Amino acid sequence: SHPLLTGSASTRVRFSFEVFPARSQAAALALGHAVQHLSASGPDFISVTYGASGSNRDASLDLLKYLRNNTDALPMAHLTTVGQSRDELRTEILGMMDAGIHDFLALRGDAPRGVREDDPIVTGSLSSAELIAFIAEVRAERPPFTSVGRTSVAVYPNGHPLSRSREADIDWLVEKQEAGAQLGITQLFFEAEEYLSFVADARRAGLTMPILPGLMPVSTSAQLRRVAELAGRPAPAGLARALEAAGGTAPELGVAHTVELARELLAGGAPSIHLYTFNRHAQVLAVLRELGLLARDPLA
Ligand code: FAD
Repeated sequence: SHPLLTGSASTRVRFSFEVFPARSQAAALALGHAVQHLSASGPDFISVTYGASGSNRDASLDLLKYLRNNTDALPMAHLTTVGQSRDELRTEILGMMDAGIHDFLALRGDAPRGVREDDPIVTGSLSSAELIAFIAEVRAERPPFTSVGRTSVAVYPNGHPLSRSREADIDWLVEKQEAGAQLGITQLFFEAEEYLSFVADARRAGLTMPILPGLMPVSTSAQLRRVAELAGRPAPAGLARALEAAGGTAPELGVAHTVELARELLAGGAPSIHLYTFNRHAQVLAVLRELGLLARDPLA
């Protein structure tokens, strides 16, 4: 079975990528080029985001099919429940399985714009733990010998925006593991210690599944601000200043910061790294090259 699942010694640290569906024809052409390079580097998987409330879901399925049929990479489908009934989700999951997609990242998803957290649209939707169980139910309907994939879940080292406490977050994560989650992927963060201390606390509470740290090499000041919002922490002052001094755009600074962060994470025991690509290959491949993780360098 998979080294990440068994925790058995693997000779080489692994990596994976996240991409999102293109929003225009031109972006789709660029994305096709990018995923060819990403897949040629030999990742464990490439995950594809899913629009909130199922918006843009056809675009996600198209991209997953492209990965499945035109690259060597294992596709992983993000799936959100907010605003979708069980029947709609079932159709969606079966459609993905029919296309040969068996690996999922089970998410609740965010409330649609203008809808409050206590709205029945949100409170009436399956939680991520219920989605994990539901995916297993749909899998069981498939013919025997159909591939069985993994179910992954989101992890928030600095807490979910709605979280009451780290303890509640960890309890909830353990609940997701008990529902059948096999792998966690983190939200963005800036300091290795944020990931390492969260994982250490979660292990003490009974978490055994591997947790992949999610990292994104930023190119611009605007991206850095967005990452800070998602991380729920201020951006490192040195990196913010250096980007400003470079006129707001400096991809090499994002690469250098990510390489340093990844080194600390791997030294601290992270099993692998998950790279948010922003649909571009050059920066994430530069990170992996500098870390010495590229067995096959598509740009060499
Ligand atoms: P849940 O696992 O349901 O929980 C989120 C938090 O809510 C918990 O940490 C906890 O604080 C609280 N909580 C919920 N239920 C309980 C409970 N029963 N008991 C205690 N606490 C509870 N969004 C998209 O729309 N599309 C995507 O493709 C997408 N991809 C993502 C990928 C990653 C790696 C990450 C980290 C996030 C992604 N998101 C995506 C965002 C995600 O949908 C939102 O953060 C959403 O608000 C929470 O989804 P979740 O699955 O983490 O929720």
